[in-house]
This record gives sequence, structure tokens and C-alpha cells, in this order.
Amino acid sequence: MKKIVQWVSLSLLAVFMLAACGDDKEKAKDDNAPLKVVTSFTIIADMAREIGGDLVEVHNLVPTGTDPHEYEPLPDDIKAATKADVLFYNGLNLEGGKKGWFFKMIDTVNQKEENVFSLTERVEPMYLTDENGREEEINPHAFIDPAVGIKMAEDLRDALVKKHPAKSEEIQKRGDEYVERLKAIDKEYEERINDIPAEKRILVTSERAFQYMTSHYGLEEAYIWEIDTEENGSPVQIKSLVTFIKEHDVPVLFIESNVDPRPMETVANETGVRIAKQKIYSDEIGQPGEEVDTYIKYLNYNINLIHDELSK
Ligand SMILES: [Zn+2]
Repeated sequence: MKKIVQWVSLSLLAVFMLAACGDDKEKAKDDNAPLKVVTSFTIIADMAREIGGDLVEVHNLVPTGTDPHEYEPLPDDIKAATKADVLFYNGLNLEGGKKGWFFKMIDTVNQKEENVFSLTERVEPMYLTDENGREEEINPHAFIDPAVGIKMAEDLRDALVKKHPAKSEEIQKRGDEYVERLKAIDKEYEERINDIPAEKRILVTSERAFQYMTSHYGLEEAYIWEIDTEENGSPVQIKSLVTFIKEHDVPVLFIESNVDPRPMETVANETGVRIAKQKIYSDEIGQPGEEVDTYIKYLNYNINLIHDELSK
């Protein structure tokens, strides 16, 4: 195992050196070539493609089906990050914070700070609760809330405008249109959640991923575990949700597309509350060609599912 790790780091270094020898010139004002963009995970990649169109070339790091907290960049990722004109990450500790894999990679490839953008600078962090009741760990899942998505898209648009002066007008226009679509979805969330009978406005999921969204639109949240990277579905966690359900009138339980369904199935068996027919999306969008393969589809899909299941 150690040997493999050594070999991988050596080949990463080789790739990095090769890439570093390439073009290191700044993007010129009259440069019409697509801007080279690197994104940390699927939702940001989709936003960059929607806003940038063919004015950008996007390389995404963490693919669908992989945990964005603990990613190990591949040789191709290192190459893309070295050459990138601009790099976007979520922040709020999604990529493990300043000591996590994303910033390690940024250091390795020697990228300039001015090319690296967090998309949650304007988002007020919300906190998870640890077993001692302390709220110290930031909940990274802000993007589930479309009102946060608006801020992320605006910041991404502004960064692309700044980094691609030759195409700034076109990017601004595409970005404005995209933000308008998100604003319509924000309104729809508000309307459709208000349409759910007040006593049924409780969203139960496996991970506590929906905190920003539920608190913004006035849903109560309940969950089995705080975050995927820690213990998932221990007997204590399951018991705590079962107790909550016995004290509240919970209409339905949701299971996320990327989690082990068994803990929530246990909760359903112990409480007799049904599980929603379809999966809810939290940490990722689907693969290209799948039903939920863009951020806009992801937001629409989730609100339709939540509204329909809680209104039954
Ligand atoms: Zn998550």
C-alpha cells in the first residue's frame, strides 16, 4: 500500500512538473480562447457550464458518487488545476477547509490566490451540533437552498466576467439570465412550501443536509446523523429520531440519493411512517443524461418531491 502511495505521489509530481513547464502567460484582454475553469464538485461545475457556455472549459474535480470532504486529486486534476485561469470551490468546509484536500492541491500546483474563488463568501454559516451540544462545525450544505444558489451564481458570474475581459459582456448576460431562473425557483420554493398544511411542514432526511433550506423557507428539520463524514446510523442516532417522530406528526421519511438507505428503513419499521417513493437529492447532481443532471433540475426535482409527499 505504501509503495502504491509513493508511486502515485511521484507520478503526480511528474505530471505537475510537465504541466508547469507549459504556458504560464496571463490571459490577455484580446484572448478569445475559452477560459480554463476548475470546479471542486458537480453543482459548481454545472453552474460554470450554464453561465460560461462555450466561453469556458470546465474541469470538475469530485465526481458524482464521491464524497467532496475527502477527495484525492488524480493526475488529470493536478494538470487541470495547474493550467486553470480560475478555480471555484464551495467553502463552508465542504472541501475540508483551509487544511483540506482542495487547498493542499492549490499549494501543490502553485496557483495564485487571485485565481481561486469561494462561492459562499456572502453566506451566513449555520452549524452542526456535536454530541456535547456544541455548535462549532459548519454545515457545508448551503447550496440546497436556492436563495444561497443565487449568491453562488452571482459570485461565479462576477469572477468569470473579471477573468475573461474579452467576453465579459456575453458572460454577464448569460449569468444574469441564469440568476433570474434561480430567483424564479426561490419564489416557487416559498409558494409551494406555504401550500403544505402547516402541521405537515417537517422534512426528515438521513443526513442533516437541509438545514439552510428548511430554516429559510419555514420547514422543521429532523435527521438521523449530523454529517456523512462521521458516524452514520448508530443505534443512538436512530433512537433519537424515532423519539422525535413519536412526539411529532411526521407524514413521510426521505432518503437521499447518496446514502445507505438501511438506517432510514429501520426508522420506518420502528415508527410505521412511510418512506417517500423517490430519492431526494442533497450532495450531488446526477451523471449527465440522468433525470437530475443540472442544478436547476435538482432544485425543481426536490421541491416537487417535498411538496407532493408532504401534501398527501
Ligand atoms: Zn452531505
